[in-house]
Amino acid sequence: MESLPRTVVPGTTALLLDGKAVAQHIRETLRARVAALRQREIVPCLAVMLVGDDPASHTYVRTKAKACESVGIRSIVQHYPASVSQTTLEAQIDAWNADPQVHGVLIQHPVPPPLDESALLRRLDPRKDVDGITPTSLGALLTGDPAFGACTPLGIIALLDAYDIPIEGKHAVVVGRSVILGKPMALMLLNRNATVTLCHSRTRDLASFTRQADILVAAVGKPEFITGEMVKPGAVVIDAGYNRVEGRTGDVGDVDFASTAGLASAITPVPGGVGPMTVAMLLQNTVLAAEQQQA
Ligand code: NAP
Repeated sequence: MESLPRTVVPGTTALLLDGKAVAQHIRETLRARVAALRQREIVPCLAVMLVGDDPASHTYVRTKAKACESVGIRSIVQHYPASVSQTTLEAQIDAWNADPQVHGVLIQHPVPPPLDESALLRRLDPRKDVDGITPTSLGALLTGDPAFGACTPLGIIALLDAYDIPIEGKHAVVVGRSVILGKPMALMLLNRNATVTLCHSRTRDLASFTRQADILVAAVGKPEFITGEMVKPGAVVIDAGYNRVEGRTGDVGDVDFASTAGLASAITPVPGGVGPMTVAMLLQNTVLAAEQQQA
């Protein structure tokens, strides 16, 4: 990618993988695609379902809506109280599925129990699944069928590509096997011909695996869980974690940056690494959905 800052982490030789800058570049290319659609009187539109009062979810939704606006995508945020019925939510999904003005739909996780989030995802038309997490979209990762990729792992692949970091033939170790992050990450790396090890909370002697990684992806949800002694010198270290830690301002990653950066050949910061890429991929998928539905 042209004009990408190639900054080294001070005091180390590690390349800082600047997700904010890459995401900005992607947004610029999207602005042009949105303008082309708008010339044909097509306004790309993302509809967001937000249920309950989880403050983090509200913040994420605001961020996503603002990001949409920044590239000319229209966003609709439909907020429901946690007491809403499953039937009402399903009727809303059906309405969005049928609405030609809505190109992408995002169901903000978590939908509070006893509401059935999985049932809502299964109901969503995969052509509008711009978050890439319906069973159909995830299944397509296995079969190689076209579908929208889950935004966070898709963003990580885009970040590696932006810095021309080779994936093929590398040993990629993913720590965390969630449906939205760890599992699709492992599959995307596999589809790019990495040799993949997927670790989780029952993995025995985790460090013996992480120390083999050419590319290490931390998707654990535990602040500064991956430390320098778990990292092979020269590894590319990707930190997908965002954790709130009492007494500290801002988000804290899953990687202990201080002990790791000196060993890594490249590393993502938190914030400014994977987070902005996730949002950029949501915008990219929404624009693609609009292009595909209006083709
Ligand atoms: P999650 O659903 O809680 O999954 C965490 C995974 O980590 C699980 O698979 C769990 O294993 C594994 N794990 C937990 N403790 C472990 C241990 N001691 N050793 C090895 N593995 C362990 O979390 P998630 O939704 O994938 O999110 C992971 C992190 O990414 C969080 O910090 C989250 O905030 C962040 N995130 C960031 C973005 C973004 O936009 N950047 C998007 C989504 C998530 P088991 O399966 O065995 O329980």
